[in-house]
Amino acid sequence: MTDDIAQRKMQFLFALRSKGVTDARVLTAMEKIDRGHFVKGLFAERAYEDTPLPIPCGQTISQPSVVGLMTQALNVSPRDKVLEIGTGSGYQAAILSQLARRVYTVDRHRRLVAGAQEVFTALDLANVTAFTADGSFGLPDQAPFDRIIVTAAAEDAPGPLLAQLKVGGIMVLPVGQSDTVQSMIRVLRHENGFDYEELRPVRFVPLIEGLARDN
Ligand code: SAH
Repeated sequence: MTDDIAQRKMQFLFALRSKGVTDARVLTAMEKIDRGHFVKGLFAERAYEDTPLPIPCGQTISQPSVVGLMTQALNVSPRDKVLEIGTGSGYQAAILSQLARRVYTVDRHRRLVAGAQEVFTALDLANVTAFTADGSFGLPDQAPFDRIIVTAAAEDAPGPLLAQLKVGGIMVLPVGQSDTVQSMIRVLRHENGFDYEELRPVRFVPLIEGLARDN
């Protein structure tokens, strides 16, 4: 590794801490999983900046500090089975693979799923699997989940996802209209229903129904 990259990686971790990512397990996972593997082409050299970047299919890889804060809010434990909606580059799922027992991630773009799965295999991340599917319906075959994270914004928490969350489970997602500021919220499922907590303003690409037409 050249000194320049080492320097940029140090700044990357520093930026995470200064934006409120303080959980030691999350920071260790983000130190280990190199964001450089998930940003290709023109934007590769900006992989260690705390900024969202374009990925294929007109989508974006999220800002690292937002990935860190969402992961932290999800409070994943090593025995958890986790579902992510919105594979994108695969970066968020790879971070989760370090913290959970099993990770399933789905995207409506086949091309993104294939690209992410290739990186998981290359990095030997054997506990994460990507599927092409409309994530608004969750992943009924593997349900229920201890944790669910959605990385695209819906107007509200989709009903099928709430139904696939275990009692005691946590879901973190952005809600709100796609052209305005959205809120990151945390949903806790308890015996008799759900508690909702608003965490912070965020901005994500929209959750879109159905498989992508370019599949
Ligand atoms: N978590 C990603 C970033 C996600 S960008 C990362 O770490 O890189 C949001 C993703 O949600 C896009 O790839 C988009 O295709 C996907 N998406 C939008 N609506 C969807 C739906 N209904 N089902 C599955 N994926 C969806």
